[in-house]
Amino acid sequence: MDRLDELRGPVPPRPHDARAIAALAANPGCARRAVLDAAGIDKDATATHLGFPAPFGQSPFAITRGNVFEALVKESGCAELLRLLREILGLPIPLASYTDLGDVGGNPSAHLRHSHTRRLLDRAARDGDDAGTLYDHPLLRLDIAGHTSYLEPDVVAFRLGGRFHIVEIKSFSVIDGQAEPDKVAAAARQAAVYVLALRDTLEELGHDPARVSHDVVLVCPENFANRPAATLVDVRRELAVLRRQLARMTRVGAIVDALEPGLTFDLVPDAGGAPTRPVADLREAVRGVGARYAPDCLSTCDLCFFCRDEAASEGSTDLLGRQVRDALGGVATVAEALGLADGSLIPDEGQEEIARLLRLADRMYAEVS
Ligand code: SF4
Repeated sequence: MDRLDELRGPVPPRPHDARAIAALAANPGCARRAVLDAAGIDKDATATHLGFPAPFGQSPFAITRGNVFEALVKESGCAELLRLLREILGLPIPLASYTDLGDVGGNPSAHLRHSHTRRLLDRAARDGDDAGTLYDHPLLRLDIAGHTSYLEPDVVAFRLGGRFHIVEIKSFSVIDGQAEPDKVAAAARQAAVYVLALRDTLEELGHDPARVSHDVVLVCPENFANRPAATLVDVRRELAVLRRQLARMTRVGAIVDALEPGLTFDLVPDAGGAPTRPVADLREAVRGVGARYAPDCLSTCDLCFFCRDEAASEGSTDLLGRQVRDALGGVATVAEALGLADGSLIPDEGQEEIARLLRLADRMYAEVS
C-alpha cells in the first residue's frame, strides 16, 4: 500500500511482536493506533520525538526474575512443565517428548527456524495421537496488514487427542488461586496471538485449525514461592477481538483515504537516524488522525502520554475511563457534563436523559457534602 509507505516515511516497517499485536485488541476503536500500526510506524520513536516517551520496558529485576522462572519451568527438558501438563491436560507420560526449536543445527535464522517449526508441526499433526511433544522456542508467523511478523510462544504442547495447546509462562504470582486481573488479561491477549498464528500455520499446511485449543496453559509461580502452578485460560473472547482488529487493519484503507492529502508521520531522520522533523509539525500530523484515549492505553500503547495530554487539554470525558465515557454517551467534555449537571447548559436533542441523571447526581452530591 503506497499511501501507508508515505505515512511511514523512508524507513522499513516496524515488525510487530506478540505483545504489540496483543495490545491491538486492547483499544479496537482507536483510528490513530490502527493507522500507525497498519503503516508499521515506530510509535515509540514518534512518542519520544513528541516529548512523551513511553513508560514501557520491564525493570532489570523483573526481567531477571522472569528468566529465572522460565528456566526453572523448562529445566531438564521441561520436566516441571510436563508434570503440570500431565495434571491439567491429562498428558500421558510415555507420549511426552521434548524438541527445542531455538536454532536449526546451530543456525538461529528466523526463516530457517520458521521452516523447521512448520515441518515439525506438520509431521506432528499427521502422526495423529501418538505424537505427544513439547516444542520449545517454536517460531510462528502472522501477517499483519501485509507485513510478516515472527512470533515465539513460550512452548507449544501437543497432547493425546490430537490437540495443540499454547503454554504461556509468566512470572507474576498467583496467590491463593488469584492473580492480578490486568496481568492475566494481558497474558490471555498475548497467548491469543500465538493461538491465531498457530491456527494459521496449521491451516496453511492443510490441517484443521480448530485443532489448536482456545484453552491456553498459563504457568505462574504460586504463593510467593517459585513453585510453578498451571491454569487453563479460555481465550475465545480475545481471539474474536483480535481477529476483528486485524481485519480492520487490512481494511484500514477507508480511514487512510479520509486523511489529509500529504499527511505523513515521517520523522525525517538524519544520516545517523536521529529525527529532525519539527515537533510542532509532527504533533499536528498525529492529531490529524482521531484517537480514542482510555486509561488502559497507559499499559498498552506507546503514544499513551501524548494522547492523555491531548485528552486533558480538550477536557475530554475519555480521561474518566470507558465505563464513565459510555455512561455519559454523547457528552464529550467534562465541562459539558458539569454544565448539564448544574443546569447552566441546555441539553441538546437526545441528551435529555443523561442531563436529568447528571442533575440528580449533582443534587445528591450537594445534599451529602
Ligand atoms: S494511546 Fe492514543 S493511539 Fe494509542 S490506543 Fe490510546 S488513544 Fe489510540
